[in-house]
Amino acid sequence: MATAKKKERERKPLHLAKLHVHKGDNVLVLAGKDKGKRGVVQRTMPRDNKVVVDGLNIAKKHVRARAGVPAGIIEKPMPLHASNVMVICTECGEPTRIAHDRVPMGADQKLRVRRICKRCGKAIEEHTRG
Ligand SMILES: [Zn+2]
Repeated sequence: MATAKKKERERKPLHLAKLHVHKGDNVLVLAGKDKGKRGVVQRTMPRDNKVVVDGLNIAKKHVRARAGVPAGIIEKPMPLHASNVMVICTECGEPTRIAHDRVPMGADQKLRVRRICKRCGKAIEEHTRG
């Protein structure tokens, strides 16, 4: 792989950085070399509109030996654009678009956002926080 020059990144301000995909979601990849594959979201990068899916979009990186780290090739999942993945509903098991719904939740009954499956209309289960 050629050494890619760092692109001028378009980063969203924090208050606008929201994704339909959350960490721990099962997703279907819609584009790229792993098109059609499914995986679990390992990390989200909301300000860059990107997600890292475990075991997908792997890049082989050659690393030099450093103190405590031997030289070799490491396989690293690269971030995918969030628009190229589709959340798989935890209720019906199908890839779906997402709706957002505000419902009072918790002890304080504060309005919190829930993600709704556009196919079956049920709320999508959240996995891990953060
Ligand atoms: Zn569903």
